[in-house]
Amino acid sequence: MLGFQEAKDIILSQAYSFGTENVLIDKSLGRILAEDIFSDRDYPPFNRASMDGYALRFDDFENGIKEFTCVKTILAGQTCIYEIKSGECYKIMTGASVPVSADIVIRVEDSRFVGSSVNRLVAFDFSSPLKKFQNISRRGEDTPANSLVIQKGTRITPQVIGALASFGRGKILVEKLPRVTIISTGDEIVGVNDTVSPVQIRNSNQHVLQAMLQTHQMQKVKLLRVKDNKKSLRTALEKAVNNSDLLLISGGVSAGDADFVPQILSELGVEKIFHKTKIRPGKPMWFGKKPNGCTVFALPGNPLSCQTTFKLFVEPFLAKCFGTTPTGIYQFPMAESRSKKTDLDEFFPITLQGSPTQVSIKKFNGSGDITAGLFAEGMAWQPADKMILDKGDVVTVFLF
Ligand code: AMP
Ligand code: MG
Repeated sequence: MLGFQEAKDIILSQAYSFGTENVLIDKSLGRILAEDIFSDRDYPPFNRASMDGYALRFDDFENGIKEFTCVKTILAGQTCIYEIKSGECYKIMTGASVPVSADIVIRVEDSRFVGSSVNRLVAFDFSSPLKKFQNISRRGEDTPANSLVIQKGTRITPQVIGALASFGRGKILVEKLPRVTIISTGDEIVGVNDTVSPVQIRNSNQHVLQAMLQTHQMQKVKLLRVKDNKKSLRTALEKAVNNSDLLLISGGVSAGDADFVPQILSELGVEKIFHKTKIRPGKPMWFGKKPNGCTVFALPGNPLSCQTTFKLFVEPFLAKCFGTTPTGIYQFPMAESRSKKTDLDEFFPITLQGSPTQVSIKKFNGSGDITAGLFAEGMAWQPADKMILDKGDVVTVFLF
């Protein structure tokens, strides 16, 4: 049986791009860039006043000039073709283009009128020494034209959207999303709004998986619920395998009498890559692929197992398919000790506490406990060969 890392490596080796497509900037949040983004021009595009004040020549101060004639006011958005002559200053607003010959902007707070309103003489008082280009953001100093600013594989955040908009990119190339189907299996499973008998269970996994996919912008997911009945399972699985790039199945992969999923998948030509891994929770997981077709993750039905295997395997698989890396994986020290009795890679729900951050164990009643993941910030990994984690031992944490 494979350990966690081996199973993950095998899954990642099966990753492939679902293609690329153009999307509008306002529909791109959370998508992954499929092209490198270069600056279309210098940023700032001109020498820009970063304060409201007066633009003038620095050398005038060095040459002892104390009073300046204010000849013009420059507003943001105005083209400035004038040259400032010695002894002159221009009133200038934040964001306006500084005249070519000016190499300093003095804050309006440091200025005072000394002459009449006709001769408009201005003098300046300073608390600290002047520097050339003070209060001027120089052309190209943030990002010169044609520089690589955002790399392919970057997740599009609001900040990325801001840069794309600045560069005039109303449309961008992103990684295409896979066609996904979620099938929930189980005779005992009923819908969230159905009446439920004492021995039935509401279908929480479907909603959790759907929500986890939504955090990766996969909004359109096909959903099916099937009884543990070979015929209906076969019909549902066949349709899903032939019409999806990614199929997530919940339940029906353990060793129970009604766990038909692995057998039917192999009858449908989906090749088993592995079944069962040395992890807890999530041991019964099945992973396979139809040649040149659908990738199938059959996840155990226990709610915590289902969420954990998604987090540990499906998320990194999708990230690799999109040409990026999963987010939310950190290393933190344990705030308390934890021992285990199995030779499995164990994952346990945690909360993060304190500063510097430490990992606290969240108590729960086994992987069937529907509240196990609730209010946990993620899962921490106790490696197979580490029977005891001591307080202070550093663990890998997968944040939800
Ligand atoms: P299975 O993996 O099918 O053997 O199911 C293991 C446990 O998970 C059983 O107690 C099931 O009732 C429960 N379970 C299976 N599917 C779901 C689901 N979709 N939502 C919530 N619990 C489930
Ligand atoms: Mg079942």
